[in-house]
Amino acid sequence: MFGSSHRRDFLKLAGLGGIVYAAGLSPAFAAAAGKEFYFVQLSDTHWGFKGPPNPEADNTLKRAVAAVNALKHQPDFIVFTGDLTHTTDDPKERRRRMAEFRDIIAGLQVKDIRFLPGEHDAALDKGEAYQEFFGRPNYTFEHSGIHFIALDNVSDPAGKLGQAQLDWLKADLAQLDKDKPIIVLTHRPLFALYPDWDWTTADGQAAIDLLMPYSNVTVLYGHIHQIHHHDTGHIAHHSAASLIFAQPAPGSQPKRTPPVAWDPAHPFKGLGFREIETEAAARKPELTEWPVA
Ligand SMILES: [Zn+2]
Repeated sequence: MFGSSHRRDFLKLAGLGGIVYAAGLSPAFAAAAGKEFYFVQLSDTHWGFKGPPNPEADNTLKRAVAAVNALKHQPDFIVFTGDLTHTTDDPKERRRRMAEFRDIIAGLQVKDIRFLPGEHDAALDKGEAYQEFFGRPNYTFEHSGIHFIALDNVSDPAGKLGQAQLDWLKADLAQLDKDKPIIVLTHRPLFALYPDWDWTTADGQAAIDLLMPYSNVTVLYGHIHQIHHHDTGHIAHHSAASLIFAQPAPGSQPKRTPPVAWDPAHPFKGLGFREIETEAAARKPELTEWPVA
């Protein structure tokens, strides 16, 4: 946020607007550059969860919707990076939770919403219910000169992308220039953050290897219920906070459970969502983290 505010201030001071700035570049580059914009990432809402780690579980997602609607400038789009619902063995209950989730987020002012599954949504039925409600679990789209790639590393209960999806990714990347800005959206970390806690993607390194030749790649993910930043070479990986309960830092306790305890003195502490401000000409997106409370 600071960086981009400073950049905007500089452009203002210099009497330059974004359009003038882009026009100063080569025409082909300016056409590809697009405008500065931002989008919002929400993650791990776990609708349907009940328990002491979040006694406000019925309200947290609604508060998040209100918090996003209260942003002064509304984002271009919103992405939910998985675990929309909390896992259940009952296929009917799974669909009921997905329907409730969909109804609650219908309250968002922004209607351009992208979804990804988490293993809680998709691992028990290989994504069948998820796809009924939210469509394809992996897809690409373009926005303001940036290529977005959504990867599904949860519908396979083994927590992997699978060869078919890796082939699809390879074919998609083959169409892009090596300096094309790419933002990858996924649920699990692609790198081996902490495999003992299931904080990895079994074949994630294969995806990273395919992305490595591209000079401008950022990965946004969820799953670990905390903000975390990590680089694999020049590729930055950023996980987002959860909207249900926070989890401990990787390896900081013997097991992943219990999660960080709810603190009545600071309700919703550790929960939040993220703004990602960027433009095609930027090397790195600017992240701003927002609390729910
Ligand atoms: Zn997850």
